[in-house]
Amino acid sequence: MAETRILSGKVVSDAVYTALTSRIQSLQESSVVPGLAAVIVGEDPASQVYVRNKTRKFSKLQLHSETIKLPHETTQEDLLHRIETLNNDPLYHGILVQLPLPNHIDGTLIVDAIAPHKDVDGFHPENLGLLTAGRPRYVPCTPKGIMRIIEHYDIDPSGKHAVVLGRSNIVGRPLSILLSQKQKFSNATTTICHSGTADLRAVATQADILIAALGSPEFVDQSFIKEGVTIIDVGINRIDDDSEKGYKLVGDVAFEAVQGIAGSITPVPGGVGPMTIAMLVENTVEAAEKSLV
Ligand code: NDP
Repeated sequence: MAETRILSGKVVSDAVYTALTSRIQSLQESSVVPGLAAVIVGEDPASQVYVRNKTRKFSKLQLHSETIKLPHETTQEDLLHRIETLNNDPLYHGILVQLPLPNHIDGTLIVDAIAPHKDVDGFHPENLGLLTAGRPRYVPCTPKGIMRIIEHYDIDPSGKHAVVLGRSNIVGRPLSILLSQKQKFSNATTTICHSGTADLRAVATQADILIAALGSPEFVDQSFIKEGVTIIDVGINRIDDDSEKGYKLVGDVAFEAVQGIAGSITPVPGGVGPMTIAMLVENTVEAAEKSLV
């Protein structure tokens, strides 16, 4: 049984940070410190952890970041007002609003309110439109990070069949666009699956590259894959256990079950997650550079 290669997002993200060092230094020589405002509404524990992990990286790199924590009861008007203020504050080159938002707030309206040139998450329709047109400005961090993993490990998607499980605007859909672009380390024949897909297992088993972005713990097992497939596991799911923390993180792929069948796989944690953060830093550095032009 051939060993399944681990595609480490930790290794690739370290390379990203090394490459960013000189860009951060030259910004500092122009007295510019890349700055991120992270807005979080409510007490969702997973969202708190995500935002903490993101801003911790900014501190480590001596970049500026501020977390704006707002109570669950925050009104839509108040949040829109906060975003307007941040849009006009030159200290912040990037703004992110951690999703999901409480039900009484229309997430679409909020994303639309972020100035497109500060939308380092790449969720604004203007940025998604530019991506679709093949003229990307800010590429959403998770799909961008996945493309970097593919490139780093020299997995050329050209001529291969890439199957993306999940069609969200933040992961599945932009990733399917990136994978099908006519350029180096892309150019795949791409299929996107969702809850309306008739026989997801039958489609998935045709994949040379399989991306699982469903939000369903260990959904993809050995019956969904063909031998040698490259698997990118995007899922981050909390499963209760007896550990001190009270939970463990698992992906959308049954990691142990696909060992020896898959050619390579990103682990959870340590795969796509670190790349999402690295791409957020990279997009914010890029936004700071653009502020000088
Ligand atoms: P969403 O819930 O927005 O989208 C999930 C998608 O999967 C939808 O398109 C849905 O279909 C589809 N889907 C869900 N279950 C099934 C099923 N049984 N069969 C077929 N299709 C299904 O999730 P996100 O895209 O935001 O996130 C996906 C996962 O990735 C989550 O676990 C999330 O935590 C993780 N994530 C990880 C990140 C990282 O940095 N590693 C970053 C962002 C997300 P439909 O559209 O029909 O409802």
